[in-house]
Amino acid sequence: MSVAGELPFVAGDLQSQRIVGPRENGLLRALPPTAYGALKQHLKQREFIQGRVLWNAGDRPAQLYFPQSGLISMRVPTTEGYGIETGSVSREGVAGIEGEFGSGAMTFGFVQIGGVYTTIDAEIFFQAVQQNRAIAELAGLSRQWILWQAQHMAACNAAHSAEARLGRWLLLVSDRTENTTIPATQESIADALGLRRTTITLLTHSLEAAGAIHNTRGKIRIRNRALLQNGGCSCCAKLGSDNWPSNRLAALSRPAVHQMSSIDSQEPGHQRSA
Ligand SMILES: [Zn+2]
Repeated sequence: MSVAGELPFVAGDLQSQRIVGPRENGLLRALPPTAYGALKQHLKQREFIQGRVLWNAGDRPAQLYFPQSGLISMRVPTTEGYGIETGSVSREGVAGIEGEFGSGAMTFGFVQIGGVYTTIDAEIFFQAVQQNRAIAELAGLSRQWILWQAQHMAACNAAHSAEARLGRWLLLVSDRTENTTIPATQESIADALGLRRTTITLLTHSLEAAGAIHNTRGKIRIRNRALLQNGGCSCCAKLGSDNWPSNRLAALSRPAVHQMSSIDSQEPGHQRSA
């Protein structure tokens, strides 16, 4: 059973965030007009608050999630009761795409940062993948992005210090949400990284004393990116913007990106013009 299909629309929790259109997601923005037009009438805009589980491990996600803001964390459940993060997706990608091949997802999908998400029924999306080359490229690049993150995080979690992993996590989240303030509790960061909360508390105190971050209840603001990078690891660069599926798809689609104006005027859910 999919959790995603049963989630209610949650309104009013994100008043401080600007509500924007589906193409605030970089992947949808990078699609050529014909490809975007094939998906557009099926797109829905929804808000999800922090902490929502979008699909469970073992499920085949019924929806795909293109973040316009916020962040979805993919986590492998552990017997200790929490989930280790193997990847995450914000405006550079799409989440829920792991279920294409019929088998259930290895991870569960967790809203790490609440926000506005464009969703599409998975069956409709995967039919479109069969019919449109650009949408197939979007799907391929997005799956590769999730795989790359899982591979890098396996190496990073084994080889790099807790401080470096925290720095990596903060920088990658900040880059992709395009916000220096990260609304995440120390507990949720500790769970994601497989660290004790007390370890995260000690590390954030140390980073704050050094002037790298400002830590308040439920929020961490990056004050000095260079300081954070100095204490971080090489994994950040390897998962940088050159490798984001949005930027890779934009590079493939570049001649068509500038022809989007006729599609911009329509909102999701409206009837597609013939
Ligand atoms: Zn690392």
